[in-house]
This record gives sequence, C-alpha cells and structure tokens, in this order.
Amino acid sequence: MAEREDRDTKVSRRGIFELGSAALAAATLTVAAPGRVSALPQDQKPTKETPNETDPGPKNIPLAKENPDSVWSPQSDNGSVKPFKYSFALSRRRIERGGWTRQVTVRDLPISKDIAGVEMRLTAGGVRELHWHVEAEWAIMLYGNARITAVDHEGKGFVEDVHENDLWLFPPGVPHSIQGLGPDGCRFLLVFNDGNFDEFHTFLITDWLAHTPKDVLAKNFDVPASTFDKVPKRELFIFQAGLPGPLDAEQAQAAQGTGTVPKSFAFRTNQMKPSKVTPGGEVKIIDSKIFPVSPIAAAIVTLKPGGLRELHWHPNADEWQYYITGKGRMTLFIAGSDARTMDFQEGDVGYVPISNPHYIENTGDTDLIFLEMFKTMEYQDISLAEWMAHTPHLLMDQHLQVGQSMLDAIPKQEMVITPIKPT
Ligand code: MN
Ligand code: MN
Repeated sequence: MAEREDRDTKVSRRGIFELGSAALAAATLTVAAPGRVSALPQDQKPTKETPNETDPGPKNIPLAKENPDSVWSPQSDNGSVKPFKYSFALSRRRIERGGWTRQVTVRDLPISKDIAGVEMRLTAGGVRELHWHVEAEWAIMLYGNARITAVDHEGKGFVEDVHENDLWLFPPGVPHSIQGLGPDGCRFLLVFNDGNFDEFHTFLITDWLAHTPKDVLAKNFDVPASTFDKVPKRELFIFQAGLPGPLDAEQAQAAQGTGTVPKSFAFRTNQMKPSKVTPGGEVKIIDSKIFPVSPIAAAIVTLKPGGLRELHWHPNADEWQYYITGKGRMTLFIAGSDARTMDFQEGDVGYVPISNPHYIENTGDTDLIFLEMFKTMEYQDISLAEWMAHTPHLLMDQHLQVGQSMLDAIPKQEMVITPIKPT
C-alpha cells in the first residue's frame, strides 16, 4: 500500500504543474479521473519537476528516450513485472565471410521460454551451411533474395527461391540450407519453437563428417577414404560461395527418383489477402489452416499512426513479438494488480505469457509493423470487446458501470485493430 500511496502523490504533483495554480484544489481531487490515466511521453514531461521526480544522474539519455514509459510510467502501471523486452541490438553479432548472425533466446530474455529468434544477413552467394536442428524453423525474408533447400523424411527434395515478405518453414530435424542471391544477398528473421534454441549448436554437415572416422565414411559410400581428405576440419557455418545454378535445373536434380515434397516449405504472404482490415491497420494471420507444414502460427500486423491492436489475450500459447518498423508500446497485465508498459522499436523482441492480457499501440508517426509468433498450429485470441459484447450486458454493466448502451454498440465481430471507423 505504501508504494501505491507514494505513486498517487507523485501523479497528483505532476497534475498540479499541468493544470496550473488556478486548478490546484481541484487537481488534488481528480487524481483518479479517467483522462489522467495516459502515458506521459518523454517530450511532454512536466516543465518543472518536483524534487522527488528529478534525476541528477548518471543517466543513459539515449536509452531513456527509447523507453519513455519506463521513465514516466502510466499511472495504471504497478508492481514488479519482469522484463518482457530485449533488443537484437544488444546481441553479439557473429560475423563471417558471407554474412553475419545474432540471436535472442531464453538466455537473454528469461521470460521467453517457448520461442527464440535469430537475425541473419547473407551476401550474394553467402551460404548458411547445410544443417538441421531439433526445433522447427519459421522464417520471414525482410530484404533481398535467397535460395533455400531441404530434404524430407521420404527423401523428397525442395529447392525454392524466396523474396521479400516470403515465409518458409523447415520441420524439426529436416536438413536445409539458405544461400543469398543477387543483387545484394538477403536479411531475414528465423523463429524457433523453443526458447532454449542455440543457432551456434546446430547439426552441421562439415562438423559431423569431421567427427566421423574416414574409413567409416569410405565404407558408407563405397569410395576410397581419400575422397574425404578435403572435408573441412572446422565448421563452415556461414561462408562465401559462388551463386547457385538455374532454379529449375537444381529443382529437377533434387527431385530425381523421389519427387518434390508434397507440401511446399515456402509461403508467399504477398499473394494472400489480409485477414482483417480496418482504418487503424491490417493483419495477416498465417497458421496451419493456410500453411499446413507449420507448427508455428504467425500474425503480421500493421498499425497506422494512432492505431491500436485491441485489448486481448491468447488462450493457447505464449506470444513472441518481433518489431520490424515503427514505434509502439505494450502494457502487460499479469494479475494481482501488477502491470507494466514497455516501449518497442525496430529490432526489438517482446514476449507475452499465455493468457496474459495486453494491447499494442502505435506511438509513432509512421506505420508500426510487427510479428506475433506462437508455438501452436492454430492462431487463437480472445478480445476484451468480444467478451463484453457476448456476455449479458446487465451483468457486464454491474461490473464496469459503463452503461448498457455502450455495451450494445460494441461490434459483434472481433475488431482486432482499432479505430474501426474513419477518424
Ligand atoms: Mn536452420
Ligand atoms: Mn497478442
């Protein structure tokens, strides 16, 4: 209780400076008025701070400017919510000839138990070495072009070229490769359905062969042991190579004798219609209903300036977020009166545990584009508005006292993104 009282005092002092001396008496009485429960952006902080609000330093000003809701948290925030944000900019880049990579896993962001992410850049001709891993790999191409290859458990081949906004999904254990194409290679995001994934401990073809006796390799292929004299002693991981051959020729070679995989490991998001469009933005939901090979569900969300991904939660999975462009904020409510608001920008990761309610608001003056990722076949959410619209309005009003006419006016179909009317 002591903390709550202290917070209310702080907020009332702030209100005094905003309202001016004429409203002094009124201000102290309107601490909890609904209009005051908004974030105070960094550039709108009070011109005169009370002594308890000042900070003589040391200060990390660039980081504070990126995180205004931590410096001046909304009045509705309370308690100690563990951090649910980590930035790829804090991860060490592993730079090789042919490209670079970095990762954000549960080791960086302890709350992110279900999903880990990797950013990767490959030059034209740069190869992410042939490899596999226990986890499924979901990916989105964010820049440029790449050729991807894989072979499934029936020996069926898959070779495809992917471009900006294309997705791919390599099922668990399926061996694969990625190679940058012209004119300038590519940059993409990988998402794995285990927070403990480690990009630097995958099964690499060179690493495996270097740790298998040469006479066994010779026996396996019925060739002289000297055939394997040039197999690299150390992993290649990412390396520079020449560009691949023609796509149709490589596809035909991979399909010899067994054919191609029955369901494509690639998905073209540019060829699908948005799942929902409102004046506030749009969303594309891609789960196993339309991308059958994927055990990972995704939503690609675009919020226009002022747009809001409405108050909601996900009953079947944790949510891992990746911010592609723009600026936004999210409040996570974890029950027991505890809530925290954090700010996000491009290259940031956000995380929301299963069934914890949240919203995402565009706080910038450009589009906010981000991914919602789930370790589940089926995308599911429940929105506050849906709940209110489809519960007896008398009962709902007995809780909230918002008036039954407000409840009657809530759309009967999920809004997803507001505003739903032109502003
Ligand atoms: Mn992989
Ligand atoms: Mn969500």
